[in-house]
Amino acid sequence: MNTAETLPPADYYTVGDPVADEKAPSGPIEERWDARRFNAKLVNPANRRKLSVIIIGTGLAGSSAAATLGEAGYQVTTFCYQDSARRAHSIAAQGGINAAKNYRNDGDSIHRLFFDTVKGGDFRSRESNVYRLAQLSVDIIDQCVAQGVPFAREYGGLLDNRSFGGVQVSRTFYARGQTGQQLLLGAYQALERQVAAGTVQVHSRHEMLDVIIVDGRARGVVVRDMTTGQIETHFADAVVLASGGYSNVFFLSTNAMGCNVTATWRAHRKGALFANPCFTQIHPTCIPVSGAHQSKLTLMSESLRNDGRIWVPKKRGEDRDPRDIPEQERDYYLERRYPSFGNLVPRDVASRAAKNVCDQGHGVGPGGLGVYLDLTDAIERTGRPAVEAKYGNLFDIYEQITDEDPYRVPMRIYPAMHYTMGGLWVDYDLQSTIAGLFVIGEANFSDHGANRLGASALMQGLADGYFVLPNTIRDYLAAGPFEKLDASHSAA
Ligand SMILES: Cc1cc2nc3c(=O)[nH]c(=O)nc-3n(C[C@H](O)[C@H](O)[C@H](O)COP(=O)(O)OP(=O)(O)OC[C@H]3O[C@@H](n4cnc5c(N)ncnc54)[C@H](O)[C@@H]3O)c2cc1C
Repeated sequence: MNTAETLPPADYYTVGDPVADEKAPSGPIEERWDARRFNAKLVNPANRRKLSVIIIGTGLAGSSAAATLGEAGYQVTTFCYQDSARRAHSIAAQGGINAAKNYRNDGDSIHRLFFDTVKGGDFRSRESNVYRLAQLSVDIIDQCVAQGVPFAREYGGLLDNRSFGGVQVSRTFYARGQTGQQLLLGAYQALERQVAAGTVQVHSRHEMLDVIIVDGRARGVVVRDMTTGQIETHFADAVVLASGGYSNVFFLSTNAMGCNVTATWRAHRKGALFANPCFTQIHPTCIPVSGAHQSKLTLMSESLRNDGRIWVPKKRGEDRDPRDIPEQERDYYLERRYPSFGNLVPRDVASRAAKNVCDQGHGVGPGGLGVYLDLTDAIERTGRPAVEAKYGNLFDIYEQITDEDPYRVPMRIYPAMHYTMGGLWVDYDLQSTIAGLFVIGEANFSDHGANRLGASALMQGLADGYFVLPNTIRDYLAAGPFEKLDASHSAA
């Protein structure tokens, strides 16, 4: 590990004391979350009405937290820069959400989801947090089904599952290629219910400019009304950041251009420590760059790797139509190198392998920066209607962008910047190094270690928002309400 002595002398950062997670419970791992919940102080319903929470961001993490805290009776105020909570970038999530329900009876369990996540993250995750996540995954599905989220179902009516990279079981619940959108509509409805009940106030088209810290505690935010330009201050007993990731620090990523890291960056400038900034995820299945005019890249969901086979021509610089290249002249390099996982290796492995074969001259498409993702076998085996039912909207997206019909010609894909495992440091309670500033969803450095497995970001965002934060923030709020503040305070 680097020490202050071995690091280069730079003004870009300072090396502080090691940060201890004082909230992390000990004891058997499967009992830690129950122990923390039991030991966290309670707030009685009458006192909750006197306590206020500001939430920045109303994606899956922020909406679910706001709805749950509102339902519990706290006064919640939310801010987002889109024109509606429904437009948060969570809406872009296509493939699915993991849960250890073991509906397929294929050997899945809470322990296996925990194990896969820790192994997939190259053993860099916090094990207590990941175990909690695996335990809560089953509750998320029940919560969302109760809200009416239209998960895909099998012919018999049971919820369907598919597989994602890095695992050998089927535990990914999905709603066609629109899982994030459907989950967000569920969370949004729960949020709107609280708006109608008067516990949540929603401010859209507002951008957070700063966190207000008074006596070492986060007590409010400075925001800009993006319609009028007016700067406002808002105060509360605690502040929650649910402002998403920072992939757009890279020139091209799969994130919408609106996703920026301003909220977490400004909190960092106020003293909230940042963890693992270099842990960023390159997703293996994106539509290749087509030219200098592009501002972002488009993801082709990893779920396509359930049925799609990835290959490149064995001959370097091959220029034949892929349909004219016979089987023996194709290299299904993932199936060859990783026979037990095949095309479903974790994202980091698949991305590195694609770059390597392209670097060796086997890449296809303009500039040789692409590999084939071929669903021909699946179309022949199950028929086009079955493939359409599972992946239809992804095929439409691909055709609209590339003007190639993926039912007839294999898709071309290439790795692209996609997700950030790093983020603001949080303890087991999801509290940052600033008292009263909590960070949830992709904005925190979370549970994914050095590499996130597919379909586990939605799981983490909703676990944080529906189940973890509402239990841990009450331990902090139990000491409140804190001193009343207004815009005349010097910190504002
Ligand atoms: C194309 C794509 C597909 C994906 N598919 C999957 C998938 O299939 N399965 C999966 O598990 N994960 C998937 N992911 C990852 C997952 O969607 C995200 O990690 C997750 O949705 C992030 O949710 P969030 O609530 O943390 O943040 P977001 O949904 O990004 O929400 C951020 C919120 O913060 C607000 N905000 C940010 N900054 C400010 C500011 N300064 N002031 C005010 N408001 C601010 C925004 O307005 C927004 O409301 C995908 C990601 C992408 C990009």
